[in-house]
Amino acid sequence: MLLTINCRGPQANELGFLLHKHPDRFQSISMSHGCCHVFYPESTDHSVTACLMLDIDPVAMIKNKRNRRNSFALAGYVNDRPYVASSFLSVAIANAFGTAMAGICKKHPSATGIEFPLKVSIDVMPCRGGADHLKRVFEPLGYGVDAEVIQLDSKFPSWGSSPYFSVTLTGTTTISRLLQHLYVLAPVFDNQKHYFVDHAELEKLLSKGEGWLDSHPEKEFIVSRYLKYSRGLANEALARLSGNEDEATNKMPATASNDANRPRLNDQRLDAVQHQLEACGASTVVDLGCGEGKLLRRLLKKWQFRELVGVDVSIAALEVASKRLRLKDLPKFQCDRVNLLHGSLMYRDKRFAGFDAAVVVEVIEHLDPPRLAAFEQVVFKHARPKTVILTTPNSEYNVMWPSLPAGKFRHPDHRFEWNRQKFEDWARQTATSHGYTVGFFPVGEEEPEIGAPTQMAVFNLGAEVEA
Ligand code: SAH
Repeated sequence: MLLTINCRGPQANELGFLLHKHPDRFQSISMSHGCCHVFYPESTDHSVTACLMLDIDPVAMIKNKRNRRNSFALAGYVNDRPYVASSFLSVAIANAFGTAMAGICKKHPSATGIEFPLKVSIDVMPCRGGADHLKRVFEPLGYGVDAEVIQLDSKFPSWGSSPYFSVTLTGTTTISRLLQHLYVLAPVFDNQKHYFVDHAELEKLLSKGEGWLDSHPEKEFIVSRYLKYSRGLANEALARLSGNEDEATNKMPATASNDANRPRLNDQRLDAVQHQLEACGASTVVDLGCGEGKLLRRLLKKWQFRELVGVDVSIAALEVASKRLRLKDLPKFQCDRVNLLHGSLMYRDKRFAGFDAAVVVEVIEHLDPPRLAAFEQVVFKHARPKTVILTTPNSEYNVMWPSLPAGKFRHPDHRFEWNRQKFEDWARQTATSHGYTVGFFPVGEEEPEIGAPTQMAVFNLGAEVEA
């Protein structure tokens, strides 16, 4: 992973003083899982370029038990950690340029206030939300953003784009402010942290975000991601940023699952899905994108369901599901009824076939739109259950959550949210292409004009459905 900072103009050679790293020297600093190097490929009177290169050792990482926990066997050895901007970059910035980030320069104190014309390159930046998302976060800080998407494999253009970008930022600011921006935002886009997030992280966020984070239009997203979705910490951070430490109210963007309405939308949704499963008489059910297994836990209590299988792409979610279902403690006759599988809805998988019903609850909005066609094939063509029950947010209802800014999604990982027309068009088209009929059911309290918070479609193979 390479961070390049280029500074031009008559005062460019102040950069070496501000960074406390001599342009003539190659310096290496050791870190917990590798090291970082600082060097200057260019140093003239009018242009100075400093590089920070991260050299992460993935094998050293898997020696740490916590990093092993969520991975399939090879993930510890084959992963993107050495190559992307992540929380490791923040640690490297703090280790290599900590004094500069604090705005301290004893030799040239007046240089700390200089706003330099800067060009900063970050190779490689992960960003699942796409280039627009990078712009929404960096542009309000005064940077021009040039984000070039990296192909999954340049030899196979049909495989499409990766979620990785080569990013160049241009702007005029102080070195200290630039480093603070990078320190906070690298782990925000990466969305993984290699250490535990606790109160100390909240304090770091507030100190590095001082003077810019409170007025940032994406501050809720930044805070939530930096603090790894810890709602308690995020609420406190947002309250302190808004200058109201007593404000313990929920400032997070509303999500279907944290809706304060009673009964909770999540329960209403699971009730509705269970009702449909009972009504269609399914005895074998596959829960595609089962997450932490909330639905499976309910269904396990009902003897109608002889065989229950949960599938998820996230090992971490499956581990939680396994604990919630108490798979280790269940008596054998119960344990034999339920199984958890690691798998992806992007790939045809024989294990998904042969079920009476498949449920896909709040999953499709997590899939990149170009991949929906693959999902359709996997579920409706190959798995081909008799019934498919699918839910997704109704975007029209988002206006009912005042804390959710217009145009924002309910959850940072959502790739889209559809209004009723869009969902119904997609569902009808999918049903027709694969020989299913489809009916639509609102879930949650319906409002005139905008409908219910969740929309549900029930597909039946070659049968009439009453909606
Ligand atoms: N159905 C659950 C979880 C919904 S959250 C519930 O209602 O509580 C969305 C889930 O979809 C997450 O657990 C995520 O890991 C899973 N997911 C996202 N993309 C997936 C894919 N391509 N294949 C399988 N699961 C996926």
